[in-house]
Amino acid sequence: MNIKDLHLSNSLTKNKETFKPITPGFIGMYVCGPTVYSDVHLGNVRTFISFDIIYRTLLQLGYKVRYVRNITDVGHLLDDGEDRISKGARLNKLEPMEVVQKYTNGFQEMMRIFNNKKPSIEPRATQHIIEQIEMVQQILDNGYAYIANGSVYFDTLKFHEEKKCYGQLSGRVIEDLISESRDNLKNQSEKKHPSDFAIWMKAAPDHLMKWNSPWSVGFPGWHLECSVMSTKYLGETFDIHGGGNDLKFPHHENEVAQNVGSCGCQPCNYWLHTNMLLMNGKKMSKSDGNTITPDQLFTGDSPHISKAYTPMVIRFFMLQSHYSSTNDLTDDGLLAAEKGYKRICEALKTLESLENNSTSDQLDKELLQPLDQFMTEMCDDFNTPRAIAQVFELVTKINSLKEGHLDINKISTAALNRVKTELPGYIQDVLGLENEQGAGNNDALDKVMALVLDLRQGARTDKNWAVADKIRDALAGANIVVKDGKEGSAWTVN
Ligand code: AMP
Ligand code: ZN
Repeated sequence: MNIKDLHLSNSLTKNKETFKPITPGFIGMYVCGPTVYSDVHLGNVRTFISFDIIYRTLLQLGYKVRYVRNITDVGHLLDDGEDRISKGARLNKLEPMEVVQKYTNGFQEMMRIFNNKKPSIEPRATQHIIEQIEMVQQILDNGYAYIANGSVYFDTLKFHEEKKCYGQLSGRVIEDLISESRDNLKNQSEKKHPSDFAIWMKAAPDHLMKWNSPWSVGFPGWHLECSVMSTKYLGETFDIHGGGNDLKFPHHENEVAQNVGSCGCQPCNYWLHTNMLLMNGKKMSKSDGNTITPDQLFTGDSPHISKAYTPMVIRFFMLQSHYSSTNDLTDDGLLAAEKGYKRICEALKTLESLENNSTSDQLDKELLQPLDQFMTEMCDDFNTPRAIAQVFELVTKINSLKEGHLDINKISTAALNRVKTELPGYIQDVLGLENEQGAGNNDALDKVMALVLDLRQGARTDKNWAVADKIRDALAGANIVVKDGKEGSAWTVN
């Protein structure tokens, strides 16, 4: 594979650039991970699937990738200044680390369910308090921070006057930031300028998570952990830094300021930002009920959907939009994704059964052109929708070969064998779509379930609810969820 041809959209320069790694053949990539104070939501899932695709594509191209994705387990403040983890712990009468462990487990399990590869390193903020204190000291020594009442603030104005780069990543203008600071409003008066942000905060006596430092018993500011952990594991300047675009400001802007303010260099060469997940055209939001959890999608138990969907169908749905566009989750979109994914799975089975013994290469191009185009699209800023269009092109060709509309003897055996090995590899290794039951991959189960649901439909038509419910409950006991909809019943394996 030609690894020179990768292009990606760099949010720092706002240009699509040819990727050049710092060390040929190796890539360091840091992605901001979850704050583990509540269950992972679908928006998070979208962002981490996007970076999983990026990681998989880089591996496919032959790079050795060190992928670091952190766990934020301290320092992410709410508007009232309280740490999200501490607040969760206080409300539920738990140890903060119990909260952290519970939601870290849940997050990792969700990543597994959606078939995201594990990162190479998954560091936690609380494991790096000493390094964070060291970076605060470096920033103080360089004159870009000041101490106020036991807290330490980053001096954004002084930094900007000297380095001229505060706001470069997010496009914010420092003068406009007066009222937009996201950390402790109670401590605004301690700051020289409202756009300054805390890199160390003195803890109130009842604060649960706190550590000794030269300035106070306190805790690090939220942005600091990513500067520290990316530097520790990937070096002062590494290749790719990613996250959702809602993190551009203040989180990533402040990360850049901390890195430049401590070591004098930019943290990375390429910033990649994923766009947000919407539902029915609106931002997913808990407050107006426009939200759905992964579990609700798996069981179908939500007014927003007509049936249950499997994790791979949801993953496939998400891949149908480019990571930098918004993605609108709708029932119609999921239904279409389910149909499309099933077509692909069936075509892969058909492909396995195709055989020939031919040296004629008359029609080889019909198969090899979309096959080669797949990686070309992935190398063009990880364009999954256009890569998937190539897969559908191949699905059509495979079906034509099976039905005889395309003459299999005009395809060389060598070309057919290439498709047989490379296409399933692209789907499984690059797109991360595993075969799953209920999507055309398990003939026996598909047939048995079609029979069971047909018998159950008969019972329902006869208003024999006892039998219909008995079947549904027995299937539930075998982890098979049946959801009744307008167009009949559907099932998924939980
Ligand atoms: P958080 O746990 O809120 O810090 O978020 C973890 C990651 O998920 C970050 O990269 C966020 O940008 C991303 N994220 C949060 N909400 C959404 C959303 N609605 N759509 C896509 N990504 C999101
Ligand atoms: Zn971060």
